[in-house]
Amino acid sequence: MKAAPFVHHAPRTVEEAVAVLTQVGHDGKVLAGGQSLVPVLNMRLASPGHLVDINGVAGLDTVEVTPEHVRVGALVRHAGLERHDGAAAALPLLRQAVRHVAHPAIRTRGTTVGSLAHADPAGEMPAVAVLTGAVLEVAGPRGTREVAADGFFLGPLETVLEADELVVAVRFGRLPAGTRTGFAESARRSGDYALAGVAIAVSTDGDTVTGARAAFVSVTPVPDVLDLTSVLAGARLGTLPLDAVTEAVRAHVDPESDIHAGADYRRMLAAELTVRTLVSTAAGAQEGAA
Ligand code: FAD
Repeated sequence: MKAAPFVHHAPRTVEEAVAVLTQVGHDGKVLAGGQSLVPVLNMRLASPGHLVDINGVAGLDTVEVTPEHVRVGALVRHAGLERHDGAAAALPLLRQAVRHVAHPAIRTRGTTVGSLAHADPAGEMPAVAVLTGAVLEVAGPRGTREVAADGFFLGPLETVLEADELVVAVRFGRLPAGTRTGFAESARRSGDYALAGVAIAVSTDGDTVTGARAAFVSVTPVPDVLDLTSVLAGARLGTLPLDAVTEAVRAHVDPESDIHAGADYRRMLAAELTVRTLVSTAAGAQEGAA
């Protein structure tokens, strides 16, 4: 099947892109990497009359590392973020997670900002965004605004973005010194969307846990953070209360059944992945402290 006819717009600046989006309203869609939008068009799940292709917009393809955040522009491809050593050093969770996004060919074209705007609960980077307290920079006809990731996602494939707005960049927050991170997921085949996944941040003081937080992939309708600090704070790295962690995760997630896996199986996977990732991340902390 092929997409319904559309008008292709090729703005050169953010202002031009916003002007077109404003003009076409709900009949327009931003085109970034096209790795999610083009299949949707080809299956005729959407038929916008106008595509606003931002690939020629200058200045959106940079990664900037500051003491506070890693800023990723709207045209940075997943592969570009994956390869960026400065970003990986500043916030290891970015590389830990982004290498699980799809296959190399898709990561070469698809953008990290696009995966946030697409808001698929099976996306890895929305979970990273909420766990790191990310902020999205949004341009529109009323000016620019900043939206915290934890208020950006409204539901599966739904965000607070208006039809005339464009995400210019996302700023992933750097985590406090001493925080260790881990990411794990389970998929039927390497590169497939995850049946369940988890991103974890653990902080320690010597061999004692002082804080732990997790965000999930494919098992919550919107990415949100489970604060495990009350379950884990004060626990020694070698004797973490893993049964309590399992219970907390099982109570928090709300997976759906589909042709790939049932809800119970996904819930079990989420808990097991959290426990394993917590143990391996904590073990890293122990090694680091040694
Ligand atoms: P596009 O497809 O161009 O756009 C997606 C949506 O976001 C559209 O609605 C578009 O209008 C909007 N949008 C994009 N950029 C902006 C912006 N700057 N401002 C406002 N709106 C914007 N993703 C995962 O996370 N994990 C996976 O395991 C995974 N597996 C995949 C497997 C396959 C076979 C395929 C085809 C895709 C897979 N993806 C996966 C999706 C991939 O990561 C996409 O690249 C990503 O979801 C969207 O990025 P994009 O740049 O391609 O966006």
